[in-house]
Formats: sequence, structure tokens, C-alpha cells
Amino acid sequence: MAKIIDGKVISKQIKDELKEKVAGLREEGKEIGMAVIQVGNDPASSVYVGNKKKACEYIGIRSESYELPEETSQEELLALIDRLNRDDAVHGILVQLPVPEQIDEDTVIKAISPKKDVDGFHPESVGALSIGQKGFVSCTPAGIIQLLKRSGIEIEGKECVVVGRSNIVGKPMALLLLRENGTVTITHSRTKNLKDVCKRADILVAAVGRPKMIDASYVKEGAVVIDVGIHRNENNKLCGDVDFESVEQVASAITPVPGGVGPMTIAMLMHNCVEAAVMFDE
Ligand code: NDP
Repeated sequence: MAKIIDGKVISKQIKDELKEKVAGLREEGKEIGMAVIQVGNDPASSVYVGNKKKACEYIGIRSESYELPEETSQEELLALIDRLNRDDAVHGILVQLPVPEQIDEDTVIKAISPKKDVDGFHPESVGALSIGQKGFVSCTPAGIIQLLKRSGIEIEGKECVVVGRSNIVGKPMALLLLRENGTVTITHSRTKNLKDVCKRADILVAAVGRPKMIDASYVKEGAVVIDVGIHRNENNKLCGDVDFESVEQVASAITPVPGGVGPMTIAMLMHNCVEAAVMFDE
């Protein structure tokens, strides 16, 4: 039976470490500020934004929130981002995605200063990751590396297979595993013999966006399985991209949904915000 990798416990550890660091910075006279922008009032986005503000409060980061109406124009949003880019009291800027259709997501992402890009979505941040320079890393994959490291799972030399190649999960995940000296394969909807490829993995990351698709037939005995997916099943219960019940019989370690990767995303967002206050300030 697989060991459960507990994202709630590990994310709490990270948040507590950050809380201490933030208290130390405050003693040196440095207060960390994060701006959280939401356009419109999509209920799921409101929940995410609320959780992010709560995490800021817990850690001691000052959060400024901007709740803009649904009909906000792109120019208005860009003007706000421009003002926040120039505000020294704001170290991180987060625009909750998705934005309404009159606003182009890529333009908004590019407008945020790479020095305040705590989501790690700016092309400069992505480029820095791919050539090994300093910059922010997308929070979900960064959180997965922490889950592995803090669970004592070695990445170096391991066969790592990532299912999914999105810009926010699959691709940065693969780059991070490579940075940790894993031997990395990225798979996607056009991959041939997906099961065979997945079965090679010592570490298998499922970011495919299909409920319970990865069952035991995709998993090598003793593999570590990380489930990024979040879905609601027919009974309105959360489930992931991995069929937990069958995979836990063959894996050596597995993340549950909920309580695995999910809580790590916000913890790493907080980590990035603290980094923003020190990384570019030397
Ligand atoms: P996307 O839909 O952007 O990407 C899914 C990827 O899976 C694509 O690369 C796609 O391939 C690939 N794929 C789809 N079907 C198959 C298939 N049958 N076989 C092989 N590959 C396939 O999703 P995201 O990366 O944004 O998210 C993935 C999951 O993670 C979702 O469930 C999402 O809700 C969840 N998520 C969870 C987060 C968290 O905090 N826990 C944060 C972000 C996402 P192709 O490129 O060829 O189309």
C-alpha cells in the first residue's frame, strides 16, 4: 500500500517557515506587500482569491485587494498594473485568471513586471527557468518539487514522466524535474503507447485534466505518483486525474485529492511573494 504524501502538512510547514522569515524581515524594517486583482465575480475565482488573502494574513504579508467590475476594460486593468509595477510597497502582483473576454490574458501577463510576477507566468520568468536563471517558477509545479523533496523522494537519476504539457503545469514541471537531474519525458494527447511510457516512470506526474484517467495499468510497481488534477465527480466529491483506489495498491507513494498538490500551490505563491521582496533587492 502506498505512503500518502500529505500536502496539507507540508504546505503548513512551508507557511510556518515563511511566517518566521517575514517576521525577521519586518524586524529589519521590511514589510512585504502583495496586490491581488480580480476582475468580475466568478465564484470559483472569489474562493481562490479569498484563500490567497487568508494565506497572506497568516504569514504576515500585507495584501491589497482590487475587485474590479466584470466590464472593466483592458486599458483600465493595464493602468492599474502599471501603477502597481511602480509601487515599491507592492512586491507581488497577482491577477486571478481567467479574466473576462474583453481582456487578453497574454497581454495582462506580459504587463506585470517580471520582478513582481509571483505566479511565474511572464515569458521572462518562463525563459529564465528554461536557461537556469533566477526568476519565479509557476506555483503548482514548484509545490510538487517541495512535496517530493520534503517526503525524502530523490529525483536525481530517476525516470520522470509528466502527462500533460500545459504552460502552467506540464512544461514547467518537466523543466523543474530536469533541473533536479531527473531523466524527463513529457507526454500529451498525441503520445503513442502512453501506458508503456508511463510504466517506465519512477516518478509519474499526472496533469492531464481527465478524471481518474491514470489507473494502476499506467503505473510501475513502486513508482511515486503525483496527481495534479482537480475535478468534481458525479457525487460532487473532489477527485484527481489518478484513480487513487487502484493506484495506491501499486505505487510506493501517492498524493491524494484533495489534500495533495492543491494546498501546495498557495504555499508556493506565498514563497514567491517573500522571494520577490528579497530576490531582486540585492
Ligand atoms: P490543460 O487542459 O491545459 O492540459 C492538459 C494536458 O493534458 C494537455 O497537454 C493535453 O495534451 C494532455 N492530455 C489531454 N488528454 C490526454 C490524453 N488522453 N492522453 C495524454 N495527454 C492528454 O490542463 P492543466 O495543465 O491546466 O491542468 C491539468 C489538471 O490539473 C486539471 O485537472 C486542472 O484542474 C488541474 N490543476 C490543478 C492545480 C492545483 O493547484 N492542484 C493547478 C492547475 C491545474 P495536448 O497538449 O496534446 O492537448
